[in-house]
Amino acid sequence: LTSSSTRAGLHVIHIAAEMAPVAKVGGLGDVVTGLGKALQKRGHLVEIVLPKYDCMQYECICDLRALDVVVESYFDGRLFKNKVWVGTVEGLPVYFIEPHHPGNFFWRGEVYGEHDDFKRFSFFSRAALELLFQAGKKPDIIHCHDWQTAFVAPLYWDLYAPKGLNSARICFTCHNFEYQGSAPASELASCGLDVHQLNRPDRMQDNSAHDRINPVKGAIVFSNIVTTVSPTYAQEVRTAEQGRGLHVTLNSHAKKFIGILNGIDTDVWNPAADTSLKVQYSANDLQGKAENKEAIRRHLGLSSADVRQPLVGCITRLVPQKGVHLIRHAIYRTMELGGQFVLLGSSPVPHIQVILYYHGFDGRPKNSPKRALMAHGFRGRDREESDLGGGEEGLPTNFFFYIKERGRGTRVWTTRGMEKRESFRERRGKLKHKMKNGEGIEEPSISATLLKLHFLPNPIPTPSLGLHQELAQHPTVAQKREFEEIANHFQSHKHVRLILKYDESLSHLIFAASDMFIIPSIFEPCGLTQHVCIKEKEKKGR
Ligand code: ADP
Repeated sequence: LTSSSTRAGLHVIHIAAEMAPVAKVGGLGDVVTGLGKALQKRGHLVEIVLPKYDCMQYECICDLRALDVVVESYFDGRLFKNKVWVGTVEGLPVYFIEPHHPGNFFWRGEVYGEHDDFKRFSFFSRAALELLFQAGKKPDIIHCHDWQTAFVAPLYWDLYAPKGLNSARICFTCHNFEYQGSAPASELASCGLDVHQLNRPDRMQDNSAHDRINPVKGAIVFSNIVTTVSPTYAQEVRTAEQGRGLHVTLNSHAKKFIGILNGIDTDVWNPAADTSLKVQYSANDLQGKAENKEAIRRHLGLSSADVRQPLVGCITRLVPQKGVHLIRHAIYRTMELGGQFVLLGSSPVPHIQVILYYHGFDGRPKNSPKRALMAHGFRGRDREESDLGGGEEGLPTNFFFYIKERGRGTRVWTTRGMEKRESFRERRGKLKHKMKNGEGIEEPSISATLLKLHFLPNPIPTPSLGLHQELAQHPTVAQKREFEEIANHFQSHKHVRLILKYDESLSHLIFAASDMFIIPSIFEPCGLTQHVCIKEKEKKGR
């Protein structure tokens, strides 16, 4: 580790959860890289600190190597070692933190959506500051982003500035006030922050639940400057309608709150130099665009019969904010009007695998859910844990749905509270009767149902045990399911294709090839997708 060199420009360190293209989920990743490169071009020293995710695009990191030093950071009352890696991404120096914590925080196959995200990112925020402290860095600006690294602001002023890491001023950028990461107040203590001091209305206490703390609010209070991604959005979030509960806090810190319009990296999003494209093109070379359109049609198996048939594109995270119901409508409307439609949509619930554990009625678990859950490091919610002890009348009568969702972590449902509970009761009654009469201990129809569920692959199964209702109530799951059905419906259609995944290079091709784009967001803090579209239009001179 080297400390900062003396230079004319500022030394800026971004601590972030995303960075394009190595670890990108949405616009945050684009901004961290784009802003970093822009500042570097102006002569500033820019460094980035990221978690070392297992699911990164490692091929996009140059010269990745582990450092000899081990950084020890505090969490839950003790010190944990962190291995630190360095590499270069898009010309920017990046530190990757790999915690040696039994929770395997960044070994989940996904960036976000785990049940312990609060722990994962509060751990990371603390470890990142510890790295800067131990490396003797003297940054001018520490720039943290969104709730995942919002902890940096209070940690810096409460714990690190007093220790001597005090050269910096803190900039916090909120890319979307929809996501605030609030959690029960007690959870804040894990990263070493003082819950009693911070769970106060003028500090980190959530404005609508007094027993919860809100990392975004904490960063607004503790940062020297707070920015968001456009001047209009900065106005909007200061109103009760759109502030998501933080308008009061933003208004009382209005002097340090500013909206700065996001931009895209025009080197990366330039069809004249984009190597992901079949053919590069510019305003003077529209033939290249037609070739890309032809290439994507071939690649996706769409009809190429009519070169003039317009291609409508849509690239988005499939979350309610993005107006998914309008996207669905646009697919059918485009078909009606004789166009072609391509959707590239990523869902925060990318894969659900259902594994069931069933307590036998002889009192001896066939597959002990408790043991299985422990083995997976699960520490369930109270209600669920108490259910593990067995059902009414001392019989271990519950079914345990151990659901491992890639991208959402591990959760457990039991039959309790489910709509089909009554029918389970009835069945259980029958079973008890059978047991009394020595007629065996397992009911075949139940086992069969379990097996069916167990072996149903992705996409989300259609279970018959009430799980369906629980899952379906989750809007993101319901939407993913709905889009999977539409995707299946159109899988060999000549004019419509839905690709339900995250795919960076395909996104470039779709942007470059589409004649029209739809972005029916319900609200949009800034929206980099529209920037790309505008750029494409400018490049084409239209
Ligand atoms: P948000 O940050 O809310 O997701 P933005 O429009 O600001 O919305 O940024 C989204 C970024 O993520 C854009 O660069 C877009 O191209 C990219 N993106 C979104 N979904 C996908 C996907 N399924 N595959 C590839 N890139 C995607």
